[in-house]
Amino acid sequence: MGLFGNKSPEELEAELAKLKAFEALTPEEKVKKMEEAQKAAQEAFNKLTPEEQERAKAEAERMMRESEQERNALLQEAQKFGLKVPKFCPYCGTENKGGNFCPSCGAPYKTN
Ligand SMILES: [Zn+2]
Repeated sequence: MGLFGNKSPEELEAELAKLKAFEALTPEEKVKKMEEAQKAAQEAFNKLTPEEQERAKAEAERMMRESEQERNALLQEAQKFGLKVPKFCPYCGTENKGGNFCPSCGAPYKTN
């Protein structure tokens, strides 16, 4: 497997050409293309059997849940770092000894 996966140079070129063609479109044309793609996806979905539709929906929901869990984990990580109060007051420059408020001017340190 090379740098570009299993695609041949011809396939890559064709995809690049498609991308370039898309970039050359006006915003209105782009919206239309997106709507067409959405419609095609909807039509493909409608052709599925009810069982397949259920599976496709469950799969989509699972993916949504997983990305939400990932997002929450990221947020928690970010919060851990965000909870560190600044070493020096951003307002008067007094050294912070670990409190949530400046010991000199009383400014609250942002913890988010
Ligand atoms: Zn201060």
